[in-house]
Amino acid sequence: MVGPVLIVGAGVAGMTAAVELADAGVHTVLVERLSTVGGNALRLYKAFPTDDCFFCFEGNRWRPGIRKCFYRSALTDQPNIDLRVNTTVVDISGTPGSFTVRLRTEPTYVDPKKCILCGLCTTRSEAFKLSSPQCQPQTVSVDPTLLDDEARRVASECPTHAIDLDATPSEDTLVVSDIVIATGYHEFKPQGVQEYGYGEHPNIITQLELAEMLDPTGPSGGVLLRPSDGAPVERVMMVQCVGSRSVDHFPFCSKICCVFALKHANIIAQEHNGIRVDVVYMDIRTYDRHERYYRMARRAGVGFIRGRVSRVVPRDDGRLDVVIYDSLLDQYLQYEVDLFVLSSALEPSEGTAALISQLGLQDRSGFVAPVEDGSVDGVMAGDHVFVCGTALGPAEVPESVTQARAVVSRILQGGV
Ligand SMILES: Cc1cc2nc3c(=O)[nH]c(=O)nc-3n(C[C@H](O)[C@H](O)[C@H](O)COP(=O)(O)OP(=O)(O)OC[C@H]3O[C@@H](n4cnc5c(N)ncnc54)[C@H](O)[C@@H]3O)c2cc1C
Ligand code: SF4
Ligand code: SF4
Repeated sequence: MVGPVLIVGAGVAGMTAAVELADAGVHTVLVERLSTVGGNALRLYKAFPTDDCFFCFEGNRWRPGIRKCFYRSALTDQPNIDLRVNTTVVDISGTPGSFTVRLRTEPTYVDPKKCILCGLCTTRSEAFKLSSPQCQPQTVSVDPTLLDDEARRVASECPTHAIDLDATPSEDTLVVSDIVIATGYHEFKPQGVQEYGYGEHPNIITQLELAEMLDPTGPSGGVLLRPSDGAPVERVMMVQCVGSRSVDHFPFCSKICCVFALKHANIIAQEHNGIRVDVVYMDIRTYDRHERYYRMARRAGVGFIRGRVSRVVPRDDGRLDVVIYDSLLDQYLQYEVDLFVLSSALEPSEGTAALISQLGLQDRSGFVAPVEDGSVDGVMAGDHVFVCGTALGPAEVPESVTQARAVVSRILQGGV
């Protein structure tokens, strides 16, 4: 018998698998370690290949009658989905087809059914925040490390009594027929990698951090200002292959970072008049239909410098001096920039390694490796264990969604 099915991770891959299994009548338990669903896609602003705002990304194609926006998705009204946020897997035992899974749920402190998003708590204490205007469940999240006297005072003033700061963790044990790993990726933060200076100056950021700056619903309202002093940005430099294709970090090409860097370069060229963008690269790898982003960037006047960054030196006026070895000119060049943006590797999420070890799976540079079972979909990781999305390795959203659908098809055929 199929179900219940445990899905670990509620990014686009896990959410797609959950909704489509649930629609087919299979009970699913969708476990998410954060307090809201959506995963990394929640932070991306516009999405290739369609350049839609990510909130309504068509690639996910929800059921007819449901808005395309996956943050207002079927997740919250589908009785076959048991969504557990702030939850992780503690251990897994049993046998394939009948796994016993122990889950631990940390308190969310705010009841999403009662919270009316009045904004009282978020304006009074940093412990409360809205992770995104479109987040699901539609409620504020709480950072327990920031709870102080003011947070406790505001909790008692919540007009709907939605906040309970005395809530405690809980554990639950379930028996499930199949397990789907959809734990996704984490953006590599090159702290301590000397040539990039990440963490040493606020104007050195990653592409996900840039996506948040470009987003009109983000903290800067979509205006590009230097984090160090709020001065307008005039010159942006992006550097490719940060941590990827590297003997010191990750041996693989992260596949999508050339495309998302070009996407951001084009957004800046189109929406932020007069800002100069240069991209420092080893190779530009725009796979499949994404070559158009490279052509668009060229036409928009984005500069391309083939070489490697040698060092970044902060200046007194808030700018950064970037020294680059240009491998075409065979010489060192120096540029002055306001924002230095790192196209970092996609590394496996925290927690993926534990699942690989608990289930005795194979790994591929830390991501879950599919078993060679002669199929073309590559989503089977073990007996009644499946994997989809970026838990398999760097991938774009449409690919993650397609893999999730392949998993659903396999499970509906009896988990083979
Ligand atoms: C800068 C940047 C720009 C991008 N732009 C685009 C774009 O324009 N178009 C596009 O198609 N793609 C883009 N991508 C890729 C896109 O982000 C991914 O394809 C997509 O988010 C993958 O979804 P996912 O569900 O596989 O993983 P994730 O989004 O990483 O979701 C995984 C979820 O699992 C949860 N989780 C992790 N570990 C555990 C655990 N142990 N227990 C419970 N829960 C867990 C996480 O909290 C998360 O919610 C971009 C990526 C980056 C870095
Ligand atoms: S004060 Fe209460 S209702 Fe208002 S946003 Fe905070 S939790 Fe929600
Ligand atoms: S996709 Fe581009 S930036 Fe990313 S690792 Fe590959 S070559 Fe480097």
